Amino acid sequence: MATAKPKITIETPLDGGTFISLQKTSNEGDLSMETKLRLLYDLQQTDSKIDKIHLLRGELPLEVQDLEDDIQGLKTRLDNLQAELKEIEKLVSQKKIDLDNSKSLIEKYTSQQNNVKNNREYDSLTKEIEYQGLEVQHAEKIIKEKTLALAEKKEAVAAAQEAIKERAIDLENKKSELDSIIAETSKEEKELVKKSDEIAAQIDVRMLAAYKKVRSNARNGLAVVTVRRDACAGCFNKIPPQRQMDIASSKKIIVCEYCGRILVSADYEKE
Ligand SMILES: [Zn+2]
Repeated sequence: MATAKPKITIETPLDGGTFISLQKTSNEGDLSMETKLRLLYDLQQTDSKIDKIHLLRGELPLEVQDLEDDIQGLKTRLDNLQAELKEIEKLVSQKKIDLDNSKSLIEKYTSQQNNVKNNREYDSLTKEIEYQGLEVQHAEKIIKEKTLALAEKKEAVAAAQEAIKERAIDLENKKSELDSIIAETSKEEKELVKKSDEIAAQIDVRMLAAYKKVRSNARNGLAVVTVRRDACAGCFNKIPPQRQMDIASSKKIIVCEYCGRILVSADYEKE
């Protein structure tokens, strides 16, 4: 077993626990710098695979939720529309009864007028007939108006039903997509999380904390990147040749001066 080398830490101003201070720390503990860097790189690869699984699920859980909310809202609207529809139908059929009543009263009063004993009775019946005539007009007006309203409501009901049907199909699709992704990936995800934990356990606490911090600040979740086409694979800024050689030698932690990510040799990608 290798003996632990003494810690040589150069005091630096606080940089918020990122890799900057760590690059001034040379070989600590039993592991060689190359092993440490490879562990970090492996951790990054594993965590990126987990990120990819989450990305695959992506917006699906949210989309499923949105669709469920939409359908709930549409169902409430449909219930209201159907209640209104019933009310109008009730009113129309009541008005039709009123209309029939008025018409039969007019018939009755008209025939009664043939058998009146005096003018007063005749006039009184005429007034009744006029009154029922107005009732007939009123009922017919309301029936006409409400029949139009009824047609509009029925269209709205049909549109709501159609929208619910469409969204229910969408929901069914998204749900089964999500379910199958979860079914397909949950085993892999569990294994990756276990692997990530195992690798993380071999990395020193400060390095791990810096890794997590840089990773959480990076949009793509990358804290450890390789040099690709003479540039940082995290932010794509050019890296001078001398620095690239230092990175390739894996002798110390080298941080991208633009994005703060740890840079490792491109050879790590192949292995
Ligand atoms: Zn960079």
